[in-house]
Amino acid sequence: MSLKILLVEDEPRLAQFLNLELTSAGYGVTVCNDGMSGLMSVRQLDPHLVIIDWMLPYLSGLEICRRLRQTGSKVPIILLTAKDRIADRVAGLDSGADDYLTKPFRVEELLARVRTRLRNLQNQQMLRHASLTLNRTTREVFYETHLIKLTVKEFELLEYFLKNPKSVLSRQQIVKEVWNYEHLQNYNIVHVYISHLRQKLEQHNPQRLIHTVRGYGYILR
Ligand code: CA
Repeated sequence: MSLKILLVEDEPRLAQFLNLELTSAGYGVTVCNDGMSGLMSVRQLDPHLVIIDWMLPYLSGLEICRRLRQTGSKVPIILLTAKDRIADRVAGLDSGADDYLTKPFRVEELLARVRTRLRNLQNQQMLRHASLTLNRTTREVFYETHLIKLTVKEFELLEYFLKNPKSVLSRQQIVKEVWNYEHLQNYNIVHVYISHLRQKLEQHNPQRLIHTVRGYGYILR
């Protein structure tokens, strides 16, 4: 699965050049030539990263950053601009851009910054414990190199444990977090799912990872 980048740049030659460079670096690139279509495309495409030129027709790059952050979008944004006064840099970063690159720049520098931004993102998307890896983007779980097929609820249950390793999680916390049940008297569902999850995890690793804390809940360690 290639990572999606949206490029919003109104200079056709620069847009074409960057598109080519980013595509050959392995990214899935979409190009928009003005601010309005750029903003709409962020919402439609849900890209992993956005590169936006400051000066754009209809809606400036700065305004796109502001609107995206106002509506809660956390997509990493790299702002491109010919402006290089300190005040402009500050305004750019204040608008919610994560990074700022002054034109003219070398494409290698842009590619390096893209990699940095996406690495941070990818790290957040991976949860690990011992030899177990859970990828929140592809929704895959691996024990070493073995793919472990989980149902949606088993995945969410494991994700909750991996977010809280070495902590005792009560059955009540688990049903609230994984099933969204506020009040539940019977915790059989948790018991059943934990045993399915253990069976699948222990196929490749006989050592138990999810332990029962008698009369209370479970712990991953
Ligand atoms: Ca421009």
